[in-house]
Amino acid sequence: MGRTILVVEDERKIAGLVRDYLEHAGFEVLVAGDGEAALAGARRTRPALVVLDLGLPDRDGLDVIRELRRSSSVPIVILTARGDESDRLVGLELGADDYVVKPFSPKELVARVRAVLRRSEAAAQGVTEIIRVGDVEVDVPRMRISVGGRPVDLTATEFQLVATMARQPGRVFTRSQLLDAVHGVAFESYERAIDAHVKNVRKKIEPVPGRPRYLLTVHGVGYRFADG
Ligand code: CA
Repeated sequence: MGRTILVVEDERKIAGLVRDYLEHAGFEVLVAGDGEAALAGARRTRPALVVLDLGLPDRDGLDVIRELRRSSSVPIVILTARGDESDRLVGLELGADDYVVKPFSPKELVARVRAVLRRSEAAAQGVTEIIRVGDVEVDVPRMRISVGGRPVDLTATEFQLVATMARQPGRVFTRSQLLDAVHGVAFESYERAIDAHVKNVRKKIEPVPGRPRYLLTVHGVGYRFADG
């Protein structure tokens, strides 16, 4: 395939393990041990995706995301410490595409990398007017949604919320990202308002609203649309 993944990790053992697994999965891998090397590597090789540990020796990993986002929309998967929810949230809000919590299984990381690449390649092909995820169909121009062939009546805000998430199934959205997405249709300015909309959407689309199948909660972070 020849797609290069830039792995930014100062712990050599972890970096080596991640490299082995990604190479085995058919990627080319470039390892950077600190933030400066990461930014230089990203400029030089234009990787297909960056795996970025947030705990780096020279500069804040969040700062590296900011710097990368200045000039590029390269997909970023961050590695965060268990319990570090605020870093995870800020990382996603700065533009990281997904996160994996340490300690992680390398297999899981490879699966996430593949999923993020799939999503970003689909997004690069332009906005799909009809989104199909499993048995959910979202007709964007007509603002219609159906679940298992059954039409569901959503408000404009609810529709925007579902369309945003269904466009990138599996992607974790923070509440504030979802608030941005519904901006223009929603009057609320509180992140908790998203929870209320999600609750209403679930009543309409979920067979069992208390055990959601489509619109899933990501604890401490936000929500995602089930990917399959
Ligand atoms: Ca580290």
